[in-house]
Amino acid sequence: QRRPLIAANWKMNGSCELAVQCCETLSQLPASNTEILICPPVIFLNDFPKSDRYQLGAQNVSSEVSGAFTGEISADMLAAAGASYVIIGHSERRALFGDTDTLVLAKTKRAIAAKMTPIVCFGETLTERQQEKTMQVLAQHLDAVYAAHPELLQHSVIAYEPIWAIGTGETASPAQAQAVHAFIRTYLKKYDDAAASKVRIIYGGSVNAENCAALFAQPDIDGGLVGGASLKPAEFAAICLSA
Ligand code: 13P
Repeated sequence: QRRPLIAANWKMNGSCELAVQCCETLSQLPASNTEILICPPVIFLNDFPKSDRYQLGAQNVSSEVSGAFTGEISADMLAAAGASYVIIGHSERRALFGDTDTLVLAKTKRAIAAKMTPIVCFGETLTERQQEKTMQVLAQHLDAVYAAHPELLQHSVIAYEPIWAIGTGETASPAQAQAVHAFIRTYLKKYDDAAASKVRIIYGGSVNAENCAALFAQPDIDGGLVGGASLKPAEFAAICLSA
């Protein structure tokens, strides 16, 4: 049985005030089996009081251990600041900041070495989907991380985020998302059969309080990676409740 994970990706948004509001709202939620994670800009990690109700994460990590890397933050530093998860290879990082498959692999290894759980993101563009290349593209990116290092899978969470659904208001339908999640899980079995059954595969791309229940009801969708809607504490709490 996979424990549902609902993760907030604030991206470069939010404030100290939003952090306070967010924890007030989340601490009122009834206890449940759902794991709640907030990934704010790292500067706000300390504005979240320690709580049993949620965990904290980062949105990126350096591929290096330490040294002359101006502007970077290491995995050990993030862990020391209270992050237990880190989002790696988000499509915005791949598209805008040069996060190649090689870097995604290096960052995944660093996160795990620092005892954090990487949430490794994969997704196809609209053109790739229209050309019916979705599964091929995903297989290629999954291979880049897990083929040579299948041992990383048991420590990972996978996020499927179709690029055409991010920030567009256009969500993958529950059936579309389930088809890809099932493909990913089956594909991962060739690396580690037991880990593939256990790995949580969460969906991201315009998840909101209206569409989340139908997505989370799918057998291979183990939660969500929520962008825009996670900036509204009441809506994010509603999403957490529906998992
Ligand atoms: P939206 O929920 O705003 O579409 O963002 C999804 C996302 O990229 C989460 O990582």
